[in-house]
Amino acid sequence: MTDPLQTLFRGLKGTGRRLLKPLQRGDGPNKFRLSAVDTATTTHDGDAGWAKRPPATLECPRCGSDILQHNARDSIDCPRCVAEFSYEEFPELELKRLTCPVCRSEMVHGQRHPEQLDIVEWATCNDCRYHWEFKHSYL
Ligand SMILES: [Zn+2]
Ligand SMILES: [Zn+2]
Repeated sequence: MTDPLQTLFRGLKGTGRRLLKPLQRGDGPNKFRLSAVDTATTTHDGDAGWAKRPPATLECPRCGSDILQHNARDSIDCPRCVAEFSYEEFPELELKRLTCPVCRSEMVHGQRHPEQLDIVEWATCNDCRYHWEFKHSYL
């Protein structure tokens, strides 16, 4: 009873090792090039909804410093002075830039309905094509 199982186990181990080799090679020096191709061709090229908003840099209305709000639900605390805001006050602060969560580049951003909403509604990364879209159904 043990002999056939041991043979099977050895066979599986051999297969696993053979399968692992090409994957390990992919993690080598070519990793960056491979992941760049991935972002251009796979479906993971963006997110939607306020909860998935890219990290934002806001301007502190008190001292003019940059405040990084990494997550849309994080409180907005100035690292230089005592200014502190809740995430609900985001529309009242000046948005300086959005940072691409994939490659950390500065994103291009804008609004689609500036007369209805006073917040950023879309952002695109020109480096890796990551795109974020605010969804109005979330309102
Ligand atoms: Zn400040
Ligand atoms: Zn990017």
